[in-house]
Amino acid sequence: MPTYDYRCPEGHQFELFQKMSDDPSRPCPICGEIAERLMSAGTGFLKGGGPKGEPPHAPRDVSEGGR
Ligand SMILES: [Zn+2]
Repeated sequence: MPTYDYRCPEGHQFELFQKMSDDPSRPCPICGEIAERLMSAGTGFLKGGGPKGEPPHAPRDVSEGGR
């Protein structure tokens, strides 16, 4: 189970073990405000399903005008 970073509006940051299906909004253990889950760049489980609205990344072969 991955660890998620949370940050509340007050600026407190904490980590939680959570499933992806769990509620992404958690109360901050310090002040009680609703903290938001930060997207961790380390897990990489988002690969394959990019953010909507983003066109597929097609590599373009530009070999013209080289010489
Ligand atoms: Zn807080």
